[in-house]
Amino acid sequence: MRWKEQLLQLTPYQPGKSIEAVKRQYKLDKIVKLASNENPFGCSSQALDALQSNQTSLAIYPDGYATTLRETLSAFLQVDEEELIFGNGSDNLIQIISRALLHPNANTIMATPSFSQYKHNAVIEGAVCKEIPLVNGNHDLDAMLAAIDDQTNVIWLCSPNNPTGTYIPESKLNTFLEKVPADILIVLDEAYYEYVVAEDYYDSIKLAQKYENLIVLRTFSKIYGLAALRIGYGVANRTIIKALEPAREPFNVNSLGLLAASAAIKDQEFINNCKEKNRQGLEQFYEFCRKYELDYYPSQTNFILIDCKTDGDLVFENLMQRGYIVRSGKALGFPTGVRITVGSSEQNEGVLNALGEFLSQK
Ligand code: PMP
Repeated sequence: MRWKEQLLQLTPYQPGKSIEAVKRQYKLDKIVKLASNENPFGCSSQALDALQSNQTSLAIYPDGYATTLRETLSAFLQVDEEELIFGNGSDNLIQIISRALLHPNANTIMATPSFSQYKHNAVIEGAVCKEIPLVNGNHDLDAMLAAIDDQTNVIWLCSPNNPTGTYIPESKLNTFLEKVPADILIVLDEAYYEYVVAEDYYDSIKLAQKYENLIVLRTFSKIYGLAALRIGYGVANRTIIKALEPAREPFNVNSLGLLAASAAIKDQEFINNCKEKNRQGLEQFYEFCRKYELDYYPSQTNFILIDCKTDGDLVFENLMQRGYIVRSGKALGFPTGVRITVGSSEQNEGVLNALGEFLSQK
């Protein structure tokens, strides 16, 4: 068969070991997974109630227009309904954008290390990837601007960035947006937006209304705690949304996800509570790093990248033996780092005790 040549250089996404597999391998009763930046506090009880009292027939296709969620979100964000697009997770929106704009005669610009799916999807479409190294964990926006040429179709910004947790300050983003030619789509991936506390963070929805070539991506997978139901969304002007829509599968978001997300958005008390507990959790990590004199990036997200000054895979293996699944920094572009999701206070204490023991033994 004549597979696309570029597929041969890709490996499928590695989801990491399942909790069950780790339990069996290390003969452990309890495993804490702090590897995928999920919400340790689950989701809003209002979302659970909506699911439980749901009358949706599983025999019926989902609402392809996402009517209720569209109405709820447009009121919540103060945008027009036609300024929204929905995806089976924001992963799906990254795929849709790539499918719509990238091809072998186009190139695309992204930071590195950043979220892996920008490059993955661009490679599938055969586009050339221009990867611009982070500087001190931050997007190098000047270098990204300098990389633009006539074939550039998409620029990916991840703010706050996965895996560093760093964000692009407002003034720098504004300057960048002013300089990018209007025929290049800028994707601002804000999967962790709801965790941000930085004061010089921008109003990205307003920016999407101001700049005709900007799309903002957000998700219900992180602070909303609905990762299993796969709902992401994009906010952009009508022209962008209209152009992207044909590249979206007709029934890409599922009925239960739509129902849960519509209810979840109404419970902002839950979101604020999770945000606050996350800040307190991050403080536990910062204190640990100060005590052990480890470098880390101050985080605007629900994860932290810590430089353990030793092989990240080794730290990962050791923590797994102790019942904690984290992400080794090695596959994320930080060979001596580990990325740990901020859990509940008890989970944070547990993983930090385990890490402390490991570091003391070295
Ligand atoms: N963007 C970033 C930066 C992410 O970290 C993730 C999840 N790891 C996603 C997008 C995709 O999230 P989802 O598809 O669950 O919305």
